[in-house]
Amino acid sequence: MIMKIMKIDTDCTDNGAGIRTTIYVSGCTHYCKGCHNPSSWNPLNGDDYEIDELVKIIEENSLADVTISGGDALTCQYEETLKLVKAIKERTNKNVWLYTGYRFKELLEDKLDILSYIDVIIDGRFDSSKKDLRLLFRGSSNQRIIGVPQSIKESTIVLWRNGEYI
Ligand code: SF4
Repeated sequence: MIMKIMKIDTDCTDNGAGIRTTIYVSGCTHYCKGCHNPSSWNPLNGDDYEIDELVKIIEENSLADVTISGGDALTCQYEETLKLVKAIKERTNKNVWLYTGYRFKELLEDKLDILSYIDVIIDGRFDSSKKDLRLLFRGSSNQRIIGVPQSIKESTIVLWRNGEYI
């Protein structure tokens, strides 16, 4: 299965804890005012990659964990992203963070199947009125860094903060 990818950063330190391979998946339907990268909205932008090829890049970057960014990978390329994160979890022991404009509650209602392959979600659309450059790993204060398995297990939002779940 082919994915449209805007960019791959194999030495990323600002999209999650530690060093990460960040995959920027094309396509977003949230259209946030002040979006950092409107060229990522078009799902036809970017280059073609086989999912197997992406997993190999991730595997070969042995010291790095994985972040899925965009665009929003859960909009235009949801099925492809589901296959990608499933393959990452089956073939590596890397932790996976994912950025999305959806709120966690919406994912629980509509996109539950992908959550079992994701460790941490940064949720919510970018809100320019809540923009804060001091925030770690996110652009506006309405966005949350959520531990996915912990939140599902405890049926409440469990936040990630400096490597701890609170
Ligand atoms: S969710 Fe992200 S990529 Fe999509 S419009 Fe909002 S800021 Fe831009």
